[in-house]
Amino acid sequence: MLEDKNPLKTNISQLGEFGLIDHLTKNFKLKQKTSIRGIGDDAAVIAVEKGMQLVVSTDLLVEGVHFDLSYVPLKHLGYKAVVVNLSDIYAMNATATQITVSIAVSNRFPVEALEEIYAGIATAAKLYHVDVVGGDTTSSTTGLLISVTAIGQAKPEVLVYRDGAKENDLLVVSGDLGAAYLGLQVLEREKEVFKVNPNSQPDLEPYTYLIERQLKPEARKDIPKLLADLGVQPTAMIDISDGLSSEILHICKQSEVGCNLYEDKIPLDPQVISTSEEFKLDSTTIALSGGEDYELLFTISTEDFPKIKANPHLTVIGHITHKKEGTHLITRANTKIPLIARGWNALQED
Ligand code: ADP
Ligand code: MG
Repeated sequence: MLEDKNPLKTNISQLGEFGLIDHLTKNFKLKQKTSIRGIGDDAAVIAVEKGMQLVVSTDLLVEGVHFDLSYVPLKHLGYKAVVVNLSDIYAMNATATQITVSIAVSNRFPVEALEEIYAGIATAAKLYHVDVVGGDTTSSTTGLLISVTAIGQAKPEVLVYRDGAKENDLLVVSGDLGAAYLGLQVLEREKEVFKVNPNSQPDLEPYTYLIERQLKPEARKDIPKLLADLGVQPTAMIDISDGLSSEILHICKQSEVGCNLYEDKIPLDPQVISTSEEFKLDSTTIALSGGEDYELLFTISTEDFPKIKANPHLTVIGHITHKKEGTHLITRANTKIPLIARGWNALQED
């Protein structure tokens, strides 16, 4: 996982720009019925079904800022670039249908490196049932840049925005939190060990879940479907990319409400608890500010509580209050402290 096993090095210039695009994209087939025209023309053409609205989201990933190629395998990078974008579409309670992929690469990257990235992109596209319908390819004088645009559709009454939370609504989260951040801490520690002793073989067994959550995150495609099946229409929703507290504050600010979040309700995997202890970090702080979990945070009316209460994928972590009550964390010791958004960047500088 930590080494580049591909010995082949074909210079990009051997293929040329058009040859490269063709080489990387020739196996993409259109499967969505709304994909009218994909790669190969001046623009892709997408049908909008009757009564539906289009949902579009873009993310830009920059080498050295969002990823470090010394421990992120290229295939995983391609996969993650797609997944983090699809997460934004699901956070609107919409269905993702197409993506475009743009890359800027320096000539230190051989064609084989781009093949790896595209293998990851293809794997994610297949798993999440989205068509790759276009993109752009250009050179970079510094690092690698990848930008993915995701396109989806939903009926207007199904779409969920950040500004719909109401007083007394319940605050609900999918999955568990904090693992991706701790996975990054483990990988960074191993990178330092590797620098000192390149022959060291790290024992990553106690951290498998954490590393998987960091290197191969998944978007919650299942949640919009689950909610539809349960007959639950969330009042507000957001995906957790920057940490729970930051996302809760986005919902509260945009919905003009307050909230009480209960520390003892925050779902944590056992590996998050044990590894937090090992790193002498507070697991609640990790969950609140860790980021990159790509779980969904949403609010529902209390009437819908019976529909979700037995569901193993969903946890009620708090409730919405009147704006004047503010935004608080109720700790295990039953003290009330203001929620602050530090974000994972700030956390790393501690
Ligand atoms: P243009 O000159 O109009 O930008 P390009 O030659 O860049 O066209 O692209 C040709 C076709 O290949 C277009 O359909 C474009 O969307 C697609 N394409 C270009 N780069 C990529 C890429 N990195 N991944 C996927 N599709 C791409
Ligand atoms: Mg172009």
